[in-house]
Amino acid sequence: MAARHGLGRAWAGCSLQGRRLAHAGAGGQLQREYDAVVIGGGHNGLVAAAYLQKSGVRTAVLERRHLLGGAAVTEEIIPGFKFSRASYLLSLLRPQISTELELQRHGLRVYARDPYSFTPVLEDGQAQRSLLLGHDMAETQRQIAQFSSKDAQAYPKYEAFLSRLVSAIDPLLDAAPVDPAAWSQGPLLQRLRALRGLQPLLRAGLALGKQLPQYYQVLTAPITRILDLWFESEPLKATLATDAVIGAMTSPYTPGSGYVLLHHVMGELEGRKGAWGYVAGGMGGVSQAIAGAAAAHGADIFTEKPVARVLLGPRGEAQGVVLQDGTEVKSKLVLSNASAQLTFLKLVPPRPAREIAREPHYPACSLAVAAPVSGEEQLPEEFLQHVAQLDTRSPVTKINVAVDRLPSFLAVPNAGAGRPLPHHQCSIHLNCEDTDLLHRAFQEASSGEPSTRPMIELCIPSALDPTLAPPGCHVVSLFTQYTPYTLAGGRPWDEQEQNAYADRVFDWVEAYAPGFKASVVGRDILTPPALEKIFGLPGGNIFHGAMSLDQLYFARPVPSYSGYRSPIPGLYLCGSGAHPGGGVMGAPGRNAASVALEDFKHM
Ligand SMILES: Cc1cc2nc3c(=O)[nH]c(=O)nc-3n(C[C@H](O)[C@H](O)[C@H](O)COP(=O)(O)OP(=O)(O)OC[C@H]3O[C@@H](n4cnc5c(N)ncnc54)[C@H](O)[C@@H]3O)c2cc1C
Repeated sequence: MAARHGLGRAWAGCSLQGRRLAHAGAGGQLQREYDAVVIGGGHNGLVAAAYLQKSGVRTAVLERRHLLGGAAVTEEIIPGFKFSRASYLLSLLRPQISTELELQRHGLRVYARDPYSFTPVLEDGQAQRSLLLGHDMAETQRQIAQFSSKDAQAYPKYEAFLSRLVSAIDPLLDAAPVDPAAWSQGPLLQRLRALRGLQPLLRAGLALGKQLPQYYQVLTAPITRILDLWFESEPLKATLATDAVIGAMTSPYTPGSGYVLLHHVMGELEGRKGAWGYVAGGMGGVSQAIAGAAAAHGADIFTEKPVARVLLGPRGEAQGVVLQDGTEVKSKLVLSNASAQLTFLKLVPPRPAREIAREPHYPACSLAVAAPVSGEEQLPEEFLQHVAQLDTRSPVTKINVAVDRLPSFLAVPNAGAGRPLPHHQCSIHLNCEDTDLLHRAFQEASSGEPSTRPMIELCIPSALDPTLAPPGCHVVSLFTQYTPYTLAGGRPWDEQEQNAYADRVFDWVEAYAPGFKASVVGRDILTPPALEKIFGLPGGNIFHGAMSLDQLYFARPVPSYSGYRSPIPGLYLCGSGAHPGGGVMGAPGRNAASVALEDFKHM
């Protein structure tokens, strides 16, 4: 198995036969030519590289930062405290990726959580009652019954209703979306083959049967309308609604929020549907396991190799990349794990119109041939316009906090010796007493002000994984919204604004868990502009672009280009900007690799 060297080094590859090769890539040397280059070592880029290399395609991954994983990383930003600096919970990773890449063998371990959700409720300024949800349905119903016995009865039926929808949609995640253009052009056989792509859609429809209209409503309605149909108690509805707005600059009253909820319940952990867990050692553990698998198959993986642009051939096809230091790395395939906006607006160079006029079409990719090239751009104007106008708004500010003791919540105070109690392993929902609070927090951010009463998801992964913090200490993740990217009046998100917002969030945590503020050892505040700058997330959007209905399935990243190919032959999008979207899922990487492999066979 490959060993990871220090910063700016390569993961040395092994042969397809599992034998360590003395090929030129081993020992950390970047080759001048590969079959495939992957721009970016986020988890999706690493997944794509692993599948390509596993199929015998010589692949290099070039990551801009000093560490692999993109938004799935572990960083020791405060000495002694290891943070899942951006993403912090695993569930969505496609199970077949774990199996096919043998991620357990490459070190992936996950702490499953049960119970998984805790909502303390502030009443008369005191948090007395709380709502604890877990996999023990009878206990969960007892918890819900504190607020409404009707809701306690309805809850198992709601779970069953949602899980049927999740099972129906599940197969759609593991292949490119249907391509309507392919049905109407090309030879008959090709068109018939394209029609086969409809099968998963039809199967999904059939699986939902006569309840299809109800499920259609879940996908398109505001989540409040769906939850109001099922439940009456506000703490339960607000807790469930958080999944519908997480990472989205939308209110629970926004149509389409139901799909975001679905996206957050469609994962599984150790065979348990909808379960989320902490990766041992932090989220970087999942990226390292994937990188380990890719390297074991022979991929060369480099950090501190920022790509400046895609290298284009005489016919406008991708021919490799140019690094920021001017180094050229040639390849037949280029897969970009960067966002669609970074890829197409920054990394694809324009070229003079006169050159375009002289050149014949490049035959490798039908979509590319069909796309007109206009003006000074390499890319069709309409495509560029769609990419530039993608909705990348984000409400998220993540605050990573090091504390010297376990938070003690008024609703369930700590027992002696500060040992973690069941609720400490949960997603702890603060300011979720009712759905209107979430809506008001959204409204404030929409007018350019960070919420005065933000929605907070507080997690303490060290409650299950003691390796993350020194003895007795803990790491606390505060996933908060809503904060706008641009503050009203053009105020910059400077240190003063960041600290003011973080202080406000801490005040709220203090209201539920007195003593929290005094326990803080250090903090790392990641506003939307900071998420953009550090992780390359456009607008700070945690999914590379909103998961709104108009930017999903065959409209992701933009209409007519959902099949991972781009108007540049040989250039593919393999990150969260592509179908089926964001989250530590690996599906875009796996699907893109499969499409690129298909083209590679015909090159
Ligand atoms: C604060 C936060 C919390 C989240 N919480 C969760 C969670 O708990 N669970 C979950 O499932 N998901 C969560 N997400 C979402 C999830 O982390 C992302 O959707 C996912 O990690 C994106 O993976 P990716 O591989 O597609 O892209 P990225 O992780 O964004 O990787 C892209 C990579 O490309 C690199 N790159 C960009 N440009 C260049 C260049 N020019 N040259 C070289 N390299 C380049 C970047 O540095 C980066 O490493 C969260 C995200 C954030 C930000």
